[in-house]
Amino acid sequence: MIDPTKIWSLTQLPSLPTVAQGLLKLAANPETELRQVVQLVKADPAISAKIVKAANSTFFGVRSEVKGTERAVSLLGPSVSNSLALSFGLTASAAPSSAMSVHYVNCWRHSIIQATAATVIAERIAPNSVDDFSLCGLLLDVGRLALMSVFEDDYRPVLEAMQRGHLSLPQVEQEWLGIHHAEVGARLMEQWKLPTAVIDAIQWHHAPLGRLEEMRQHIDFPILSAMAVAACAGDVLAGTGNDAARERLDRLARSLLYWKTEETAEFLHQTELSWQQHAPLLQIDDSETPANLMMQANEQLVRLTLRAHVACTQATLRQQLAEQERRDLEFQNKQLQKQALHDPLTKVYNRQFFDEMLDTEAKRCTRCASPIGLIFADVDHFKQINDTYGHQFGDVVLQQMVKVFAISIRNSDVLARYGGEEFVILVNQPTERGLERLAEKIRKRVEDESFLFGDMRVPVTVSLGAAIAVPGRSDRDLPHRLIAAADASLYDAKRGGRNRCCNRSLVDESERELSQQVLQHRFSRWLVSKRLLDIPSVSRALLECSNEIARIGDLAIQCHYLDEDQVSHILSLQEKTGERFGVAAVRLGWITEPQLVHLLSLQQENPKQLTAAVIRLGLLAPARAAAALEEYLLTKLPDGHRYLETEMVLA
Ligand code: GH3
Ligand code: MG
Ligand code: MG
Repeated sequence: MIDPTKIWSLTQLPSLPTVAQGLLKLAANPETELRQVVQLVKADPAISAKIVKAANSTFFGVRSEVKGTERAVSLLGPSVSNSLALSFGLTASAAPSSAMSVHYVNCWRHSIIQATAATVIAERIAPNSVDDFSLCGLLLDVGRLALMSVFEDDYRPVLEAMQRGHLSLPQVEQEWLGIHHAEVGARLMEQWKLPTAVIDAIQWHHAPLGRLEEMRQHIDFPILSAMAVAACAGDVLAGTGNDAARERLDRLARSLLYWKTEETAEFLHQTELSWQQHAPLLQIDDSETPANLMMQANEQLVRLTLRAHVACTQATLRQQLAEQERRDLEFQNKQLQKQALHDPLTKVYNRQFFDEMLDTEAKRCTRCASPIGLIFADVDHFKQINDTYGHQFGDVVLQQMVKVFAISIRNSDVLARYGGEEFVILVNQPTERGLERLAEKIRKRVEDESFLFGDMRVPVTVSLGAAIAVPGRSDRDLPHRLIAAADASLYDAKRGGRNRCCNRSLVDESERELSQQVLQHRFSRWLVSKRLLDIPSVSRALLECSNEIARIGDLAIQCHYLDEDQVSHILSLQEKTGERFGVAAVRLGWITEPQLVHLLSLQQENPKQLTAAVIRLGLLAPARAAAALEEYLLTKLPDGHRYLETEMVLA
């Protein structure tokens, strides 16, 4: 009796030396094809089992279980399969001793025949599972290999007894060792984590017919029954079986596969013809010592590893190329986008972009109740210009006109072609006066511009219509209203005789009054009015300040004008009515008009930030700047001292 536990930890089984040698040859050739590797690997149970195990390992992340050698090899690719196969096939422990070599060859032959039989059966009953069946057939006798390699001395007598007597191999094994190879193989493959169908098929391949028939409901019954038949064919064709084996084959084939006797005979014949093509692998050359093979294998492994590395590097390169391509595409995309935003003739923004900008800008202005302004400009009698001097000259006029517009506006303004000979300017932070002046400046410049047709100066003029609005908090229709107002102004200008500007204001009187006061109240104004700084210096300092808009509710709390409950009350009121925060607070009698002006001026301009910027830029000495801030807060703003005490937004 043996102690089978020694087997379960086995990580390696002996491989056919000729398979290993063949793999070595393939490894030396960079042109090796998958098919060649598959063919060799498929002849060796130990290597096949390992390759399938590797393909199922988490490393390769295969989702569905890999049950066949071919699929495993193609999944791993020739280089990886080959290097794995070599490393599995040629470890020192895997080399059979010469005393046992004949038994090994018998076992390998048996395995090849069983694999072939399994293939022939699959072609008949499960053409889609040929690969799975073939692997299963090959592995049916791994238990034999394991027993031979671990218990060489105990197993040799078993095999000799087998040749003498009339019992089947499992019976002799059971009698002599207390366990048979089907059991051993199944347990070992379980340890190696092979698919359960493979394990079950190994486990039951020598089971009596009655036991097999009981398993008809088993999910893997087709492969289990096929393997029992394949194992029988192995016994018959390898000559290890006797008459009893041939008889069992007929019985199993009839009951499990529903084959008639002739069909079974035909199957046997085909298997015999077919397996012979692997026979050369069984002609083992004893002159090649395992140690020698090992050495060669190691050399090849180094080369294969290098090749795998190269393959990997190439993959990385391909990845980088793909990345580059993606970046190029992105760039082209951006270019296209840019083109999509610009008018091809004049290169200014197109209508689509303008509409988007107006929308965004209207939302921003609505949020902080700041003014928004538009100017429409339309060339006067342009049709006549086209008719007189030609369309091409008309184009030149438009291009030249755009240049006049462009030098007249600020960088923060948006100039777009609205359509035909009509342009639009979205003016940033406008005042009513400022907007009027800008429109007039443009009108005058166009009038003065020399549009030359050859040597002749062609008089060209524009009419302009402007509109300004200070949106209410829930002013959802602002873009539409603003455009309508500017358009109406333009119409006024045309009707008034052309080459002129007209304006409209959507700011109501109280709103206008309030924003005037807020403007006057700002620290920057105060600094200039006190002649502490000139306008350019103040402008520089303002540029240093953040554009972040403080929330008026927060400011009111910091100045102790409102408490938190009052602020949340006004906020929820706003949700319903859309009323402006400050207006609501005044209406509720919670703050005074001057306090509102105070809050709004603080919101538009943070005096502490401005002071810090003035100091940073060296425009005023720190002490002088701090004194100025204090004086401003205390004299100009009600409760200025309170604000001074807070640690507010002085970033
Ligand atoms: P008004 O003073 O009332 O604006 O008269 P107008 O002739 O300028 O206006 P109208 O709308 O009658 O004609 C505009 C002309 O502008 C007609 C159209 O062919 C011409 N036009 C539109 N786009 C282009 C363009 O890209 N190039 C040229 N050359 N002409 C254009
Ligand atoms: Mg027109
Ligand atoms: Mg026109």
